[in-house]
Amino acid sequence: MKIFKSYTFEAAHFLPHMPEGHPCRRIHGHSWKMELHFDGELVMPYEWLIDFHEIDTAVDPIYKILDHNFLNEVEGLENPTSEVISIWVWNKVKAKLPALYKVVIFETPEAGSEYLGE
Ligand SMILES: [Zn+2]
Repeated sequence: MKIFKSYTFEAAHFLPHMPEGHPCRRIHGHSWKMELHFDGELVMPYEWLIDFHEIDTAVDPIYKILDHNFLNEVEGLENPTSEVISIWVWNKVKAKLPALYKVVIFETPEAGSEYLGE
């Protein structure tokens, strides 16, 4: 069984390795979307994989680091591409919820990254 939970957060960033004049070099914001996908067996008698509330509780402190923040100032997100953010989220969430199997980060509704671990 696979389940997912998604979150949206607002945050600013810029990409410091881009050349002057590149739009990503300027500080700007996105309405980011983060999907957390889990897989495993149904737990009886609940017949679910994980309590969605348990996911929210685990994610809350991570979410608070991301939401309404300047991502470049977050430790580990000095170069906050969606790829780097997906790895960063993976490392934080996987430590708490081992059933995590995929992180998807949408930088825009049309563009983003998926990370399934190493
Ligand atoms: Zn951007």
